[in-house]
Order: sequence, then structure tokens, then C-alpha cells
Amino acid sequence: MNGGQPLYIVMLGAPGAGKGTQARLLSEALNLPQVSSGDIFRENLKNQTPLGLLAKQYMDAGGLVPDDITIDMVMERLGRPDCADGAILDGFPRTLAQADALDQALARQGRCIGVAPLLEVADEAVIERLAGRRICRECQAMYNIDSSPPRVEGRCDKCGGELYRRADDDPETVRNRLFVYYKQTAPLIGYYYAHRLLVPLSGERPIEAVQADLQAAVATAAAGGRVR
Ligand code: AMP
Repeated sequence: MNGGQPLYIVMLGAPGAGKGTQARLLSEALNLPQVSSGDIFRENLKNQTPLGLLAKQYMDAGGLVPDDITIDMVMERLGRPDCADGAILDGFPRTLAQADALDQALARQGRCIGVAPLLEVADEAVIERLAGRRICRECQAMYNIDSSPPRVEGRCDKCGGELYRRADDDPETVRNRLFVYYKQTAPLIGYYYAHRLLVPLSGERPIEAVQADLQAAVATAAAGGRVR
């Protein structure tokens, strides 16, 4: 859909804004891989790899894993064959240094980012959403015990897997994650605005409505149109 050019989409927004949910739907619609840095860290942690154990200390506190480690990890992932046509980046970049490293790595291959959708959600909504968030251990499907509960408590509708609450979704850690977001990640909004890639979308609407706008924004970008 991108005139044969690889398509890179950077999902922006605070923790709990819906980046993962929307990236997953977009990934199915576009047949492009979802590359979630948080998921890669959690997978490493589950497998007790040195990377996972190192990341744990930062994740537990709601802080960011150091840039060099994160950049190497994501670049390695983007270099795999399934990312040959591009990727939907979810949770990366999260600092200006990461954004710069990504641009440079893509530029070396004659590639660039196509669009950076920003999911806008108020802080109070984020805190409420994360408090109720539950994730399937098996297929990573997401639920919310208040707004989109599973049919059977504690079990995934799709695969029957056990639902769990992320350790860093407790209100105290969420407050720190939001603080870190405003301090280190929010400057990316200006960065992508300046690169004419930013598309702000209201994230406080039904999932399907946000997804429809997201797909429209991606189609405009992929067709070579200016997003603003
Ligand atoms: P997420 O699933 O995107 O909310 O990420 C969970 C945690 O993983 C974050 O709170 C960070 O500790 C770490 N993490 C994920 N992505 C990054 C990144 N791009 N840079 C640094 N740390 C990250």
C-alpha cells in the first residue's frame, strides 16, 4: 500500500493511550509486524535472559531502559526478514536519542518514517485504564475489567489463557511512568511535528473509531500525501 516502499509507522502516546491495541489491529490490517519494545523486554524477562534481567530494574520502577541497549535491541528486530516491508513501532522511540538513531538507521538504507500518529488521552483516563488493564499470558490480548471485561473472569476470550496484571500498572508506578513520559517522550511530539509526520488523534473514543482514523492517516501517508 506504500507504492512498494517500506512503511514505518511510529505510534506515539502516553502509557495506556492504546498504542498496543491500535498497533495490533493495524498490524493485522496492513500485514506489517508490530514491533513493541516493551513486549520484547517482557519476553526477555520471561526467558530470564541477561537483557531481560537488566531491563527489569528499570521497568519495575517505571523508568526507561538505557538508550544504547534499547536502540540495539530494536534495530536488531527491525533487521529481521519479516520487517523487510516496514513495521509498526509501538513504544519505540521513547527519547529524542532513540528517534535520532532510528532516523539514521533507516536513512542508511534509503528509508524513512511514513507517519507518526499520536493517541491523545487525558492523564486521569490513562490512570483509570491501566488500573483495570489485564493481559493474556498466552496471546497478549488486552482486556479492561471495567470497560471491556472477558466473558469469564481471569480467562482470555480468544485462547482461554490466564489474564494477568502488569507489575508496572500499579497506580504508584503508573504515576512515575507518566512523569517519565512527559519528561523524556513528549518532546518527540515536537520532533515529529517538525518532520511533518505527526497526526494527532483523540484516543478517548471506541477502539474501532480510533482504528478507522488511524488507517485513514496511514493511507494518506502511504499514498505520498502530506499528513498535515
Ligand atoms: P511498554 O510496554 O511500552 O509500556 O513498556 C514497558 C517498560 O519497558 C517501560 O516502562 C520501560 O521501562 C521499558 N521500555 C519499553 N520501551 C522502551 C524504550 N523505547 N526505551 C526505554 N525503555 C523502554
